[in-house]
Amino acid sequence: LDNISSHIVNYREFEVNRVEESQQQVSDMQERMVELEEEAETLKKLVVEKNKQATFDALTGIPNRLFFEERSEHEFSRWKRFNTPLILAIWDIDFFKKVNDNYGHKAGDKVLKTVAGLINKRIRSTDFLARFGGEEFVMLLPGTKQEEALYFLNKLRLQVGQCGFRYQEEVVNVTVSCGISDFRENDSVESVFERADQALYKAKENGRNQCVVAE
Ligand code: GH3
Ligand code: MG
Ligand code: MG
Repeated sequence: LDNISSHIVNYREFEVNRVEESQQQVSDMQERMVELEEEAETLKKLVVEKNKQATFDALTGIPNRLFFEERSEHEFSRWKRFNTPLILAIWDIDFFKKVNDNYGHKAGDKVLKTVAGLINKRIRSTDFLARFGGEEFVMLLPGTKQEEALYFLNKLRLQVGQCGFRYQEEVVNVTVSCGISDFRENDSVESVFERADQALYKAKENGRNQCVVAE
């Protein structure tokens, strides 16, 4: 009997230890899970942040060239598939170098932010505006015909010219030129871009502060 009793005592002790150990393991695992969830949350935020840094322009806050390249391929595929009109427009600030030279780089930066903000605020949610580089912006207008685009972009151009930009109390004249092209049969994004760029060149040649539609 003694033998059996001591056996039972030992067995119970062993079982109590085993249960305690398992409970400890479960609570350790729960702690680790909370840690991992927090880590995953931090990483998710980091990915969102890094993605934004990679696709948005730091100065103006609008999409950058990389984002434009992605978006233009996407809109190009949709245009091919659905055959609805698509417009590409390139904007360039007139005599921007003079703004930097006369008022300084900070004034130039402020002009860039103002122009980007002004245009970006007025476009439709399906339109797309990106800073292509320097003082050049590029735009995609899906579902818009060329005549409509010209009318709308001319209105935008006038609004930029009339924005009454001031730098340290001084009025700074800011105007923009724009080259516009629609997508046509056998086009690629590059060929449309080239045509819009030619139209922009004409707008500059003809005296600036105007929108020109590609031939
Ligand atoms: P045009 O009417 O023919 O377009 O003349 P422009 O002076 O606007 O063109 P140009 O290409 O001669 O000069 C562009 C200037 O833009 C030169 C460059 O220093 C300036 N620039 C480019 N990026 C920035 C920027 O981020 N900030 C500032 N402040 N200036 C910039
Ligand atoms: Mg330029
Ligand atoms: Mg310019």
